[in-house]
Amino acid sequence: MSAVNDAVTAANVTPGADTMPAVFVGHGSPMNTLEQNRYTQAWNEFGRSVPRPRAILAISAHWYINATAVTAMAQPRTIHDFFGFPDELFAVRYPAPGDPGLAAEVAELAKPTWVGQDTDSWGLDHGTWSVLAHMFPNADIPVVQLSIDANKSFDEHVQLGAALAPLRERGVLIVGSGNVVHNLQRIQWSNPEGGFDWALEFDEAAREIMTERPGDIASLAGHRHFHLAVPSPDHFLPLLYLAGLAVAAERPAELLIGGYAMGSLSMTSYQLAGL
Ligand code: ZN
Repeated sequence: MSAVNDAVTAANVTPGADTMPAVFVGHGSPMNTLEQNRYTQAWNEFGRSVPRPRAILAISAHWYINATAVTAMAQPRTIHDFFGFPDELFAVRYPAPGDPGLAAEVAELAKPTWVGQDTDSWGLDHGTWSVLAHMFPNADIPVVQLSIDANKSFDEHVQLGAALAPLRERGVLIVGSGNVVHNLQRIQWSNPEGGFDWALEFDEAAREIMTERPGDIASLAGHRHFHLAVPSPDHFLPLLYLAGLAVAAERPAELLIGGYAMGSLSMTSYQLAGL
């Protein structure tokens, strides 16, 4: 047995060890990076409420590829993966260091899923830094990103989330970043803080599951508004990682903040309490 497996076993049997909270954030527009609103305030308050993490593992909707991979470089670059936004947003840097050791731990925990170690391709995308800029504005905690494998089923994403649970006992804060409802084709600019009825209905169904029986999260694929709320799965999938962590912890998630933006975005966020 490897040293890492020994560590996993030890973590699993140590009673009373501090368990780091975990969180899913509805990130919305990249402009939230530069704004102060009730969502960014909630992210900031969450960051101040948790024990200082050893490192952060971020699962962002914006690294949606055909493989499971982690950023394994010592100094991940800030990626500006959008267009049509002000220069001020392109000037944002989030210079947190990487953590190749954590990248290796993730690969060990994810077995038999193979996890690629990315040393030169990705970095930190805006799904990660738009949130962390408020949650940990000093950018002095190491950050590793985990990609979302487009080939995996919803159940497999939940299972991979559950497999990452031991990291919570090793001081790692797991941050999923997406949006429960995310339909850019239906954006209604005149409705900055509202949601369409179908968006509210889907978001409410997700809330009921996350706060009562998170192991059933994949059943949302059968919701009558699923295809309107989740026209592509990238922003929805990070939620499944928190659901998996909730299953592993045998406790449901709690609402961090709820709300809507521009009709077809849910800004709802969830947390899993620490122990
Ligand atoms: Zn996004």
